[in-house]
Amino acid sequence: MKAAVLYKPGFPLPVENVELQKPQSGEVMVKLSAAGVCHSDYHFVSGFFTPTRTPLVMGHEGAGIVTEVGENVKTVNVGDKVILSMDSMCGKCKNCTIGQPTMCLTYPRTFKMPDGTTRFKKNGTELYHMVGTFSEYTVLPEDQLVIIPQETPLDKACIIGCAVITGIGSVINRAKVKMGDTTAVFGCGGVGLNTIQGCSIAGASKIIAVDTVDSKLEKAIELGATHTINPTKVDAVQAINDLTSGGVNFAFDVVGDPKVIKTAFTSTRPGGTTVIVGIPPTDLELSIKGWDILLDRTIMGAFHGGARARHDFLWILDLYNTGRIKLDELITGYRPLDEINEAFDDLIQGKSIRTVLTF
Ligand SMILES: [Zn+2]
Ligand SMILES: [Zn+2]
Repeated sequence: MKAAVLYKPGFPLPVENVELQKPQSGEVMVKLSAAGVCHSDYHFVSGFFTPTRTPLVMGHEGAGIVTEVGENVKTVNVGDKVILSMDSMCGKCKNCTIGQPTMCLTYPRTFKMPDGTTRFKKNGTELYHMVGTFSEYTVLPEDQLVIIPQETPLDKACIIGCAVITGIGSVINRAKVKMGDTTAVFGCGGVGLNTIQGCSIAGASKIIAVDTVDSKLEKAIELGATHTINPTKVDAVQAINDLTSGGVNFAFDVVGDPKVIKTAFTSTRPGGTTVIVGIPPTDLELSIKGWDILLDRTIMGAFHGGARARHDFLWILDLYNTGRIKLDELITGYRPLDEINEAFDDLIQGKSIRTVLTF
């Protein structure tokens, strides 16, 4: 079967034949139906973000159908439709128990299976994977799957596992934006547009979209933004101050760039919160004036939207099915797995929001 495997950053991603072993105890094999192409995948391929292990079967956003279950699997059956989560959730450790399954202690991010081995191989060499959605099939712990209703369209639901939950979850689970709060969202790609959708369902009174690409700002309006700012044309901090009489309650950085984080922080009012949603470079250090923090400001991380996948993915699907959030509008094209590098080109040239690979 075919998979996209990262050997070394800085080169096009090869799609090649690999071997996949049967699921072991507690593991499940999934046939991928659709997989979203995320900017973080490109961060690995370009070398912006150093992969901890290679060779690595790429892709972390996807949905499919269970084709085989290993021994001792209790919660998933062959034929179930599933969304794959980036995080395995044991449901029993201290962090899962207090409602933070993205920080599950039973499943540290090793890029291997829980028993320390891998299921993907190529000519006898182990291939690592986190989710492995750029592949015709993958094997994962059953604790990494969320069963969804059979009528769910997988070519739409596949983007819930990263883009949608990371954006909406950052607003609802982490920031806990309230009715009437003012918000600004810096970066209007796949995750940023979902952050905007999150602010909209939370009842934010102002949702200010900030991006350097005008077409993305138009999309932001379609998804619920009330105002737009292009920082290449106006001073974003000044414009946000004018719109909100002194700064927003919540500023979301969905870029991961130190300058953007600082601009987001500067656009908050005293008492306001800056939420870091984008992935910053691994060794980035931030410098902020102590006095500005002292004025009741908060800087908060929001890894994977604080996802409680088994709960959140299902209510997000309900909101989609009843027309209260949009997924179709976020998907700008479909391509086969073989065109993964063209999908990355579209992404970095600002031509796509989400390309979905179909199998
Ligand atoms: Zn992602
Ligand atoms: Zn756990």
